[in-house]
Amino acid sequence: MPGARIGVVEPNPPPELDELRSLVDPDIRVFAITPASGRILDSCRVWEDIADVRAPAFTRMQVWESVGSGYVRFGSDGQGALGFVAENRVLGSAVYDRLRALATGASGLRLFEGTTLKSLSLPPHSPGAALGSPPQELARVETADGRVVRARLVVGADGGGSVTRSLAGVGSWAKDYEQHGVVASVRLAGDNQRTAWQRFLPAGPLALLPLWNDMSSIVWSVPPAEAARLKALPGPDLAAEINAAFAQQGSAQDAAAAASQGGAVDLFTKGAVKLSRAMQGAAHTVTRAEPMGTPPLVTEVVGGAASFPLRMAGANEYARSRLALVGDAAHTVHPLAGQGLNLGLGDADALARTLARGAEAGRDVGSLSLLREYDGERRAQVQGMQTALDVIKAVFAAGGHRPGVPSAVRTAGMSAIHALGPLKNEMAAFAMGSDSSAAAKVVGSVGAFLSPSLSTPFGSGR
Ligand SMILES: Cc1cc2nc3c(=O)[nH]c(=O)nc-3n(C[C@H](O)[C@H](O)[C@H](O)COP(=O)(O)OP(=O)(O)OC[C@H]3O[C@@H](n4cnc5c(N)ncnc54)[C@H](O)[C@@H]3O)c2cc1C
Repeated sequence: MPGARIGVVEPNPPPELDELRSLVDPDIRVFAITPASGRILDSCRVWEDIADVRAPAFTRMQVWESVGSGYVRFGSDGQGALGFVAENRVLGSAVYDRLRALATGASGLRLFEGTTLKSLSLPPHSPGAALGSPPQELARVETADGRVVRARLVVGADGGGSVTRSLAGVGSWAKDYEQHGVVASVRLAGDNQRTAWQRFLPAGPLALLPLWNDMSSIVWSVPPAEAARLKALPGPDLAAEINAAFAQQGSAQDAAAAASQGGAVDLFTKGAVKLSRAMQGAAHTVTRAEPMGTPPLVTEVVGGAASFPLRMAGANEYARSRLALVGDAAHTVHPLAGQGLNLGLGDADALARTLARGAEAGRDVGSLSLLREYDGERRAQVQGMQTALDVIKAVFAAGGHRPGVPSAVRTAGMSAIHALGPLKNEMAAFAMGSDSSAAAKVVGSVGAFLSPSLSTPFGSGR
């Protein structure tokens, strides 16, 4: 928006990107970035710098489970990367270097560094305000070091514990998964095969994201006590537990339950095929299954492990008059699909497009009527994703709703996804972020053909 004056409040400015170039070991915190997010970062002229330091691409993905034989494996054959893995510190420094450069030019950008938001006054909240309501007063922002700014729009991008959201009085909800995500950098016995691996274990998913050469990063979702135990293990012991988790078989009880449900599983799979065909609106060819691969052995944990509590949360509104919330300030999701940061970048992109459209039409960029367009677009998409991820999490959770049955159901669901070429392509589109509707469609359909079985086991497809 030409002529806009923008202030950014940043309590902890990151180091310059150049200072990170000599660092050899990976950041313990990494993100799987979709190509769509890469394009957003590119449009901000940040992606080139990130890629110049390091943002390894992955071209294959395998998702499988421990208690059955279900798996999904796909690649980006001929379509470029499925995604990239970016380190938190590289991403943060690259974005902030760009802000520093803009702040020294004539861009109208000003940095408020080493301080935080202390108070925020917004116009009185009137949810029923009609289009064409009289212009609202400006927002008043005060920082902890005593600076006061009046603004047409305040964007809250301050994470899951957003102070902006609470100061604005926007309500929020949360569901604690009672799981922590244990993260660590690991060295492998061989090349990382540019493959992202994720295995659904009874306690939660274990993901191995490829970095460079023989380096990868793990995210392991487990109950809090188990997270504390894993974090306290010496490196070689943690490496051994990761290898065992990738190799372990399901319990005899689970295997027996899966076997006894074999016929029903077959019917279930047929039901899933039918459902997928209906979803596609046309008959399609079922592709041949690719054989399942084996993840490389972990030989060393580089540095220690850390953990983060996992929860799903959301703001009741993403926008009010003179306020927009983006990223984790608006929503948090389970990391099983690596979507949190990607959703946040999608918010920023949608908000920027909304504001540009409004400014071009001569509208007040902080008006509720304009910001509601952003709220409507993003809240629907994000809530669809939250629901879908929650269903997947529940379906693959230990024990599921019916002891003994879920492993068979999960196997059938996985096998069905794997056998269905078009659905697999949708999953690839989802992974690549190239089609945002694919996310809801794919994950929604996984939920659609897995979750009914929880209430009426094996009834579909008959
Ligand atoms: C184990 C784990 C693995 C994950 N893996 C992935 C993945 O592979 N891919 C993915 O897309 N997502 C992933 N996520 C999710 C991702 O970490 C978050 O969605 C993302 O970090 C949210 O970014 P954010 O900028 O909105 O919030 P944050 O990263 O929390 O950043 C908030 C910022 O606001 C600043 N701030 C805080 N308070 C104030 C204040 N009062 N005033 C001013 N500034 C303030 C902070 O300094 C910070 O810079 C993962 C999450 C977990 C827990």
